[in-house]
Amino acid sequence: MTRVYVLYTGGTFGMAGAPLRPMELAKLERSLPEATELAPGVQVTLERFERLIDSSSIVPADWLHIARRIARNYETYDGFVIIHGTDTLAHTASALAFMLQNLRKPVVITGAMLPLLEEGTDAVENYRLALMVAGHGALGLPAVPEVCVAFAGRVLRGCRSRKMGHAERPFDSPHYPPLAQLEDGSLRIFPDRLLPMPEEGAALRVHEKLDTNVLDITLFPGLRPQTLRAMLELPQAKGVVLRAYGAGNAPEDEAFLAVLKEAIQQRGRVVVAVSQVPYGKVAPGHYAASSGLLRAGVIPGADLTPEAALTKLMVVMGQVGDDTQRISKLMQHPLHGEMSGR
Ligand code: ASP
Repeated sequence: MTRVYVLYTGGTFGMAGAPLRPMELAKLERSLPEATELAPGVQVTLERFERLIDSSSIVPADWLHIARRIARNYETYDGFVIIHGTDTLAHTASALAFMLQNLRKPVVITGAMLPLLEEGTDAVENYRLALMVAGHGALGLPAVPEVCVAFAGRVLRGCRSRKMGHAERPFDSPHYPPLAQLEDGSLRIFPDRLLPMPEEGAALRVHEKLDTNVLDITLFPGLRPQTLRAMLELPQAKGVVLRAYGAGNAPEDEAFLAVLKEAIQQRGRVVVAVSQVPYGKVAPGHYAASSGLLRAGVIPGADLTPEAALTKLMVVMGQVGDDTQRISKLMQHPLHGEMSGR
């Protein structure tokens, strides 16, 4: 028997009523098919999270609690499934990817677009897929040693995934191919796309220190330099994800760029540019309109998703403290396959 630990945190998957709210664990357990029916050879322990929530209420402290649950049960189980709401699923997947070091077992996050008790639900199919990935041993498949997202027949790298909301592709991984997918009902894993397996003796470590003094700011036509300045002066703006346009572009307005430059060079703020376009990536210097950001000292985030950039900043700043040069270096270097490049 392969043992899988399932943590139910809430989300549409287990919601019922009008308006929708998460149902209790006992009801969820009664409503779900037996694990062995879905994935033969897989035995499940299902537990509930401290707070059963709509994932729009998730806070970074919840990531810590999820990570600790995994760590506490790590030796006993072969894989982990987290049932989570879709709204902030990509944030949780990214945060866990950066927090869990030396992960040798799959941590699979799943959810549903339609509640388990509703006709046409995708909950059971997503759960089955998650159990197959987490319970890989029972299927004779290799372990996916990463935090991943299982949805609609595809398994995506957690820190590359984004909610798209599309009925057929609720989640996507715009800049990295799926790690695994269902093909005629069987799970096909692509070993060459997986992160390397950490050494056997390497113990799981949880990076517990997150610096949450981070803002996520989206550029929009009409954002005034003084508004940006007021945001960057906040003590909570030690790190900033700046959702720039297209290929990392921003206004060429000198006053606007001067605000960024001052915040970075005088106040030691760390600003990382990502693209606000789902499939976009930052190509520094491609347009003149991106050169100003570089001159101001903004870090180009390449193909980092906004969710990965935000959670990576929290974890990296939590580890490194105020060493902005080191933060800048780490933000441009893939730590868990979250971005392209070496
Ligand atoms: N509001 C829900 C949540 O994120 C949406 C979902 O699960 O699909 O918890």
